[in-house]
Amino acid sequence: MKAYVDQDLCISCGLCISICEEVFSWNDDDKAQAIDEEVPEELEDSVKEAIESCPTEAISEIE
Ligand code: SF4
Repeated sequence: MKAYVDQDLCISCGLCISICEEVFSWNDDDKAQAIDEEVPEELEDSVKEAIESCPTEAISEIE
């Protein structure tokens, strides 16, 4: 899986970064971004937790 953050929906709450800082980080616009690469298998559960926890549903999973 890969993760994608919709920049128009992200409200910069930081939750996804605190849940999985290996995949999510701040970008220059102070919004969250996900790594471009495939999410390592051992981090998939954390990314799914971040997807479910995001208050604005800004994170989606892409194949
Ligand atoms: S949890 Fe959602 S709103 Fe919060 S920083 Fe991450 S992508 Fe943005």
